[in-house]
This record gives sequence, structure tokens and C-alpha cells, in this order.
Amino acid sequence: MVQSFYDSVLEQIDDTAQRIHLNSGLHQVIRNPERQLTVSIPIEQDDGQIHVFTGYRVQHSSARGPCKGGIRYHPNTNLDEVKALATLMTLKCAVANVPFGGAKGGIQCDPTQLSKKEMQRLTKRYAAMILPIIGSRADIPAPDVNTNAETMGWIMDAVSMYEGKTVLDIVTGKPLELGGSLGRREATGRGVMINAMEIFKKKKLDPKKATITIQGFGNVGSIGADLLQKQGCRITAISDVSCALYNPQGLDISAIVKYLNTSGRPPLLKEYPIKKNDESISNSELLGLDSTMLIPAALENQITTDNADSIKAKIIVEGANGPVTKKADGILTERGIDVVPDILANSGGVIVSYFEWVQGIQSFFWDIHEVNENLKRIMLKSFNDVWSIAKKECISFREAAFILALKKIARAVELRGIFP
Ligand code: NAD
Repeated sequence: MVQSFYDSVLEQIDDTAQRIHLNSGLHQVIRNPERQLTVSIPIEQDDGQIHVFTGYRVQHSSARGPCKGGIRYHPNTNLDEVKALATLMTLKCAVANVPFGGAKGGIQCDPTQLSKKEMQRLTKRYAAMILPIIGSRADIPAPDVNTNAETMGWIMDAVSMYEGKTVLDIVTGKPLELGGSLGRREATGRGVMINAMEIFKKKKLDPKKATITIQGFGNVGSIGADLLQKQGCRITAISDVSCALYNPQGLDISAIVKYLNTSGRPPLLKEYPIKKNDESISNSELLGLDSTMLIPAALENQITTDNADSIKAKIIVEGANGPVTKKADGILTERGIDVVPDILANSGGVIVSYFEWVQGIQSFFWDIHEVNENLKRIMLKSFNDVWSIAKKECISFREAAFILALKKIARAVELRGIFP
């Protein structure tokens, strides 16, 4: 049976706590989310019927600062998944050293079955129902799977209506016209690119000779692909929920992105008119392709004990959260495959979300150069912090990142003292 996402995260925390001889009380604090809220969200559908959806908001830790984390809309979203994602957010913020704790939210729904008006009503009602626990100094949501800048604009409006004033710093990932930050939409993909280029450098691999396969072609996957192709890498395969495309000579990523940006909503790869030399393959074939680097950028639990042995890529950079289970990670490490873990590789989004929050508080906005330079500086520092621990202790990058994070979170809890 595939290890559950949440069990996988907890097992990694337990292993790390043991390795660093973490005080058992502090270990318990880090293992358990501070607060979990489940809401039943009624909305009036376009046909006049009422439908009730289930939504969640989990705040894992506020030890290092306000909680921060995205909101996901997906048919499989459940409380355990949201707890796992909230926990990873706490660890991610600690690795990047941004002054936030972790949170996550989600609604169990199928966005493809909802009209835009229904999505807007669902989002605003959800925002109102989690309002008692979110806030610009308490818990700041952001986009995740199937949510975007527009969704964040709706949340900002709902909260602003309740408060009777415009509240800019309640969400990040907002549209630019509503106080969003330049570079936020691209930030996670850009961060993935920075990590990929840095590990090529460390391993003395020429990016221009590298082949890269990418699972998931949404915000993270498509922007990561585009930026890596601009660095001279060959993107030989991509996939989304509808299909996978393969071309050993390299796919024309700019053309595919351009096509999807102008097609209907949600844009699907299967609608792209396949070019000569491009080939349609299955998603499982994509994961097993021989390439220099594999970037899983879709959902959790994609590489498990069932397929870890068939992975042929030399390096994995986790664009998604939790794409490799803890047990599969052990197999990959034994096989000498380097995995740049999610809590390091996809932290670009939360780093630029931090910039957006700071800009919103100050109502003073940075240019794109300032955003991207600060993102690069912070990402390279965290990459090198993790790299040094991994090399010194002869452990995997994931183990090193977890050590870095757990030590920082435990120290914050210790310094604050347990209340009361
Ligand atoms: P998105 O909704 O924009 O894109 C998700 C993509 O994955 C889509 O192309 C979808 O078709 C594809 N997909 C879904 N199921 C698939 C499957 N079984 N096989 C292949 N492709 C599949 O979401 P996103 O924002 O790009 O997020 C992707 C991952 O990155 C998630 O794990 C998310 O938590 C993580 N992440 C996102 C951000 C961010 O800023 N958006 C930040 C950090 C981490």
C-alpha cells in the first residue's frame, strides 16, 4: 500500500528528531498542527440549487511568525493532505529563513465542474468562514493547485468587505492591480530553475547538455520549463492531467506555453496541436524516461515504492509538494539519485509571497529586478546551507533540509517558552 502523504512527512520528522536528539516535548510540538478548522460551505449553484462543499484551513505552527500557506481546490483534498502541506510549509519557511510559520487550506471540489461565478461564490464564502482564524498578522493564504491570482483577489475583497476597509496584506499572490508583487506568479518556477542550475554547477554538469523531464504543466511546471529552456537546457518531456508529450530533441516550450495561455480555461495539453517529431506518451512512461533531471511539479505521492526502481533520471528537483514518498526517497538515495527536496526547491513562491506581504504593509512596491535578485540571493543561501549539512554529515539533501528546519523551529519554540 502506498504510504500516505501525511505519514510520509511525519516519518521524516521523527527520523530527523531522532538524528538530532531533539527533546521529546519539542518533537511533539513540531509533530502536531496548532489549529485545524473544517468548514461546510454552502453555495447557490447557477441552476439555483444549494450545494455544500467541505473546506479546511490548518495552521501548523506560528512559532517563527504568522502562518503562511496556499489554498488548493481539488476533488481529493482532505484534512490529512492539508495537514501534511501545512507542516511542509513550516519547514519550508524555516529553510528559507522567512519569518513565517506554516499553514494550508483547501476545498474538496472539482473546479472543472464549476462556472466562474460559482467559483467566486465558493471562494468568498470559504474566505468568510475561515476569517475567524486568518489575518494579516495571523495567517496569510496564497494560491496553490487550481487557484490563482484571481482567486486571491476574491478573498481579499471578501475580507475587505468584512473589515470595512481595503486589506492588502491578507493574501499574497494577488493580481498586480490589487497590490500583488511583480514576479510572484513566476516565483516558484523561477526558484525551481535556480535550484536546478545550482545543482548542475555543484555536480559540474553542463546545463546545455542536460535533458529535463517535467511532470505537471501548471504554474510551477510550465514556468520552470520555460526558464530552464531559456538557460539552454533541453526539455524532452512534459505532462499534465490530460496527456504527456515527448521529443528527445527537445520540445518547443515557448510555443506550448503561448498556446495554452491563449486557449480556454483550464488549459489542457491534449488540446495542443502535436508537432512533427513530438510524440504522445503515458504519464508513467514520462516518469521512467532516461534524463539528466526529473522535475515532478504536479501533486504528491507520484514516486512511490512501486516505481522508484524504474526512475532513470540522475537528479530529481521537487517542484511539487511531497511528490516522492519517504520510503521511495530511501530507494532513490540508495540508487545514488540526488533529490532536491520540496521544502528547498519550491520555496520561491513563499519567498516572493513574503516580499509581497512586506510591500503590502509598506504600500511601497519593488521593481522586478529587486524581486528577482532578492529571490536568487535567498534561494542560493538556503541551497548552500542545505548542501553544506548534506556534505558534512554524508546524508541526503532532504535529511539535511529537515535538520536545518527542525533546529530553527525547535529553537523558536524554546526561546518563546510554552504559554502559559
Ligand atoms: P497548478 O494547478 O497550476 O498545476 C498543476 C498541474 O499538474 C496541472 O498542469 C495539472 O494538469 C497537472 N496534474 C495534475 N494531476 C496530474 C497527474 N496525475 N499527472 C500529471 N500532471 C498532473 O498547480 P501549481 O501551483 O503548479 O502546483 C503544482 C505543485 O506545486 C503542487 O504540489 C503545489 O502544492 C506545489 N507548489 C505550488 C506553489 C505555487 O506557488 N503555485 C508553490 C509551492 C509549491
